[in-house]
Amino acid sequence: MYDVIIIGSGPAGYAAGIYAGRACLSTLLITGSTPGGWAALTSEIENYPGFPEGIQGAELMERMRKQAERFGVKMVMDEVTEVNFSSRPFRVGTYSDDYETKTVIIASGVSPRKLGVPGEDRLAGKGVSRCATCDGFFFTDKRVAVIGGGDSAVDEALFLTRYAKQVYLIHRRNRLRAQKVAQERAFKNDKMSFIWNTTVTEIIGENYVTGLKLRNVETGAESVLECEGVFIYIGSTPNTQLFEGKLKLDEHKYIVTDLHCHTSVPGVFAAGDVQELSLKQIVTAISSGARAAMEADKFIAESEERAYPERQL
Ligand code: NAP
Repeated sequence: MYDVIIIGSGPAGYAAGIYAGRACLSTLLITGSTPGGWAALTSEIENYPGFPEGIQGAELMERMRKQAERFGVKMVMDEVTEVNFSSRPFRVGTYSDDYETKTVIIASGVSPRKLGVPGEDRLAGKGVSRCATCDGFFFTDKRVAVIGGGDSAVDEALFLTRYAKQVYLIHRRNRLRAQKVAQERAFKNDKMSFIWNTTVTEIIGENYVTGLKLRNVETGAESVLECEGVFIYIGSTPNTQLFEGKLKLDEHKYIVTDLHCHTSVPGVFAAGDVQELSLKQIVTAISSGARAAMEADKFIAESEERAYPERQL
């Protein structure tokens, strides 16, 4: 039986691992299908303290993984398929194994939201992508569209200008949501064009993307934009399907926690983007991962004191 099982290997999961490992808790970290999580697929991270020149997402996450392993955290690359929090020890099942644990830290993060238009699934991997770092190179000297107006869309559109000859940023409003520093950089970049007040109604192409059908939300005018690639960054939804009916979730399905990462089940903690009202920054995910690990340590100590009161004497 483990002291702690951590579900997820983004910044919150690895930080929880580092703190749990250093607290000498026997810790299993189940990485999910994408070790390093969403952060590992991020091109360049400029606002993580300690890296004044910025750092590639994949490199930062690899460093965190090594740091957790240094403190004895066991990692398995597997996906959690079921959990049982109704009695202790808790049970966590994956495709290949079944584990028992005194505490659980859920750091399962979020998944990219889909546009839900024709062509999106059919042309996935054939011009439709959600990872500029992974796929940007394939669009060298080509035209790409980026959908969305948040930090991810603007940061990754800027990254794509390294390869593409033209990057169209298509946003449903006429103002970006992204941080000002990124906005200014994008507006100054000669390779960037902005298509405002516009939504995508279809991704077109027989075998590969050849363009997008667009609709202006103010005038209703429809048009076609020719491009070879489309990167979709329209936000995310929490990875909490496994926990429905087992933990309290908010109306958007994020896990409700108190300030100390406690969920509605004592001994089960949540950290990072999957938490209700999280800021969705690497630095805050790390902070909550560390807190969740410390709270798990405290929970185990208190449970064992209750089970063996004579130890107190
Ligand atoms: P986000 O901030 O939620 O932005 C999503 C964008 O997609 C918004 O502009 C939204 O439009 C648009 N959108 C949503 N649904 C849409 C739809 N169905 N069709 C078309 N457009 C749609 O998501 P994000 O950019 O992935 O960022 C997530 C969080 O991570 C944020 O808190 C962000 O600050 C953080 N983050 C930070 C950094 C950084 O610090 N450098 C980098 C990446 C992400 P509206 O604007 O009209 O709502």
